[in-house]
Amino acid sequence: MAVPKKKTSKSVRNMRRSHHALKSTGSVECSNCGEPVLPHHICAACGHYDRRSVIKSKTA
Ligand SMILES: [Zn+2]
Repeated sequence: MAVPKKKTSKSVRNMRRSHHALKSTGSVECSNCGEPVLPHHICAACGHYDRRSVIKSKTA
């Protein structure tokens, strides 16, 4: 197994991790109720996807 010759310094370790931050996910408005929804996901508020109802909701 390949083993590092030297311990990685805090500086180098932190420079490597400077790219590890998670990006915020974008959101789109639901075409039915206007709630913010993750793209390509069913609306959690009204159960619509692609401008049609795909799950039976209690309200509508
Ligand atoms: Zn909706």
